[in-house]
Amino acid sequence: MGSMLSDLKNQSKKILANYLYPKYVYIPLASGGDEDITTLVKKGDHVCIGTIIGKRKEPNKISIHSSVSGYVVGFVEKYDYHGKKVRCVKIENDGKDTYLEDLPYQKKINQYTKKEFLETILDTGIVGLGGDAIPTYMKYNTDKKLTTLIVNATECDPYVSSDTVLFMEKCEEILETIDAIVEINHMEEAVIAVSKKNTGLIHKINNYLGTYLNIRMKLVEDHYPIGWERTLVREICHTNYKEIPMEKGIVVNNVATIFAIYEALKYHKPLTERIVTFSGEGFQKQYNVKIKIGTLVKDVVEAMQGYSEENVVLVAGGAMRGKAIASDELVLSPEISCVLALIPTEVKQPLPCISCGKCIMRCPAKLNPILIKDAYQKKNKKLLEQLEVERCMECGLCSYICPTHQNLCEDMIEIKKWWKGGKS
Ligand code: SF4
Ligand code: SF4
Repeated sequence: MGSMLSDLKNQSKKILANYLYPKYVYIPLASGGDEDITTLVKKGDHVCIGTIIGKRKEPNKISIHSSVSGYVVGFVEKYDYHGKKVRCVKIENDGKDTYLEDLPYQKKINQYTKKEFLETILDTGIVGLGGDAIPTYMKYNTDKKLTTLIVNATECDPYVSSDTVLFMEKCEEILETIDAIVEINHMEEAVIAVSKKNTGLIHKINNYLGTYLNIRMKLVEDHYPIGWERTLVREICHTNYKEIPMEKGIVVNNVATIFAIYEALKYHKPLTERIVTFSGEGFQKQYNVKIKIGTLVKDVVEAMQGYSEENVVLVAGGAMRGKAIASDELVLSPEISCVLALIPTEVKQPLPCISCGKCIMRCPAKLNPILIKDAYQKKNKKLLEQLEVERCMECGLCSYICPTHQNLCEDMIEIKKWWKGGKS
C-alpha cells in the first residue's frame, strides 16, 4: 500500500493552482449534512464576501458566509458531498472581491483571550476541513483542561495532497497558529503528525520548528487509517476515548483547519476558500486547486482542460471514505478535500467472498464485517448488537483491502442505519 500511496500522490504533482473567480457560486444551505438552516438572504440581495447568508441552528450554531461579492440570483439544487441534492443560494460573482468589512489586522495572534478566540472562530464559520465539518469552536469550548493539540498532517488517503501543499506554502503561518492555539488554551503541547514518507514536508517543518518549544513533530507509519482521529490519539497520546478526544483533554485539527483559524485570528477572515486535490486518471490535468466555497466541480474541471474520457466515475472525498457522485454539478463545500475522477476500468465489480479474512484482520475497530453481514441477512438485531456494529467508523479499509472488491464499507453504513432505526 505504501508505494502505491506515493505513486498516486505524485500524480497530483502537488501543483497549486487558483480558481478564485467563478462566474457563479452555489452556497449550500447545509453544513456537515445538517439542512436545518435559517436562510438570511433573498433573490436580488447584494452580498459581499463574508455576508452571512444562513445560520445553522442550536446546538451547532455556525454561520454560512458568501464566498464572493455579487447578487443573489435565486435558489437552486445541486449535489452535495453526500451525493444528495441540496438547496443552494446561487450568487453571481461581480469579480470585485468586496469584503463586508475591512479586514482588521492582528499583529500577534497569541494575544487573544480564550473567550475572544472562541467568538472569532465561531463568527468566521470555521468548521473541520478534514471531512467532518464539525464547527471548530465546539472542540475548544469546554471548561475542562485541554492539554494536547494534535495537528493531523498525515494525509493517509492515497490520492489526497491538499494539506501537504498548504503546509509547504504556509509553514510559518501554520506554526504561528499552532503556537497561538496552545498558548490561548493553556495547553501543554502540540504534536504535528506527519507520514514518515513525506520527507519534503518533514524537512520543511524541521527548518521552522526550532523556535517553537511547545510544538513537536511525530513521524507516523504511511498506512491507512493512521489519519483517523481515534488511531492518531492512540498512536500519539497512548489513550482511548469514548465519544470525542476532548474527554481526554485532546483536540485534533487538520492542517487546512489550522490555516483557516490563522486567517480568522489574523484578519477576521470568514471561511470562504479552501484547497481541493483534483486527482485520478479521469482528469486531463491533476492539480491542487484553491477554490471559493460553493464553486461547482464542473467549472473547475472545464478550466483544467476537462476529462480524459467521456465516462468517468466521480468520487467526492478520498479513495477510502469518498462517495461516488452522480454528476459534476457537485458543490465544493468546506469538507471536500479531494475530487477523484476514476476511469471505469479502475472501478472493479465485486466477486464472491473467498473467506480470506483480510477485512477482519485489518479492521481498526476490530470488527468482523463478514459476521455482521451474515447477521444482517438473517435480520438478527441482537447478534448485530453483540457484534458491535455501531463501532464501525466507516473508514473504508475493509472495502479497500478486499481482494474480491466487496463494497463492505457501504454495507456497514446501511447495516448501521438499519440497526439504529430498529433501536429507536
Ligand atoms: S469500515 Fe467499519 S468494518 Fe470496515 S474496516 Fe472500517 S471500521 Fe472496520
Ligand atoms: S476481505 Fe473480502 S474476500 Fe476476504 S473475507 Fe473479507 S469480504 Fe471476503
